[in-house]
Amino acid sequence: MGVIADKLKKVQDDIAAVCARCGRSEKSVKTIVVTKTASMQAIQEVIREGIVDLGENRVQHLKQISDEVDAFLKENKDNAAIPAEIQWHMIGHLQRNKVRQTLQVCRVIHSVDTLRLAEEINTQAHKMGIHVNVLVQVNCSGEAQKYGAPVGAAVHLAEQIDTMPNLRLIGLMTMAPLTMDKDCVRASFARARELFEEIRGERIAGAKFKHLSMGMSQDYEIAIEEGATMLRIGSAIFS
Ligand SMILES: *Cc1c(COP(=O)(O)O)cnc(C)c1O
Repeated sequence: MGVIADKLKKVQDDIAAVCARCGRSEKSVKTIVVTKTASMQAIQEVIREGIVDLGENRVQHLKQISDEVDAFLKENKDNAAIPAEIQWHMIGHLQRNKVRQTLQVCRVIHSVDTLRLAEEINTQAHKMGIHVNVLVQVNCSGEAQKYGAPVGAAVHLAEQIDTMPNLRLIGLMTMAPLTMDKDCVRASFARARELFEEIRGERIAGAKFKHLSMGMSQDYEIAIEEGATMLRIGSAIFS
């Protein structure tokens, strides 16, 4: 087993252990492998291990790396161990003028934090004749983070997105504050969970609203305990 495959396995075993400890099914937690700084060789290694969900935070890099991944999938189309397709997730801040380019690769965007961005995604998706899964990114940490809708604005933003015909609102995304203080991290994940339950309770986007994207290499254990359904993990696997 390669070094990367080994690290992936350790993370997956750890996730399984945390799920077991808090009485959750492993299947209720999807791991999105964040490629960011990873080499193409390392990315191929996680794909060989069965990973089909990859995440990127920069549009430029997304285009480049997804082209390389596509070429790899094509070369291996007769290999049953290699999936035919990868699901790409845009997880980073997205500028409106990069939406079109992003949609050429991604059908899932975790970082929708303003009405104007949602409208632009809807407009471009309509032109392309596609539907896009989106999550509202919420700033639950209370610190002056640059991105993410304020907690107090999230419900209304969700309602507005739910009226847009080419968007499917599938959940919320949040990032923990940059701190080693675990209680602080837990509090912000718990806040995201409460907001998630509130939106679900109001039945804003119906049954498709079922994802809570939170937890990275440093804090995925706490995120699972607080109800995450999607983890975004990079450095624990690639560095
Ligand atoms: C980089 C990044 C991640 C992964 O972070 P790691 O600490 O490398 O696991 C997750 N989410 C977002 C939005 C990121 O930018």
